[in-house]
Amino acid sequence: MNKEELLDLLVCPVCQGKLSHEKDAAGSCQGLVCAACALVYPVRDGIPVMLPEEAVRLDKATSRAGQGK
Ligand SMILES: [Zn+2]
Repeated sequence: MNKEELLDLLVCPVCQGKLSHEKDAAGSCQGLVCAACALVYPVRDGIPVMLPEEAVRLDKATSRAGQGK
């Protein structure tokens, strides 16, 4: 099982919904997005952090991305 398949098995710990992958230009996963909760779970060193308290609100994540970081 490769890393992408592993990420596909993860669900949102809040709503148990399916997550979409947020990828950078190189195609590596930068975060797991739950559209239903509007939360982005960070991926640190390739390891998804599936904790609601570590998740970033989707609106904040989007505005941060808009600043180019
Ligand atoms: Zn959710």
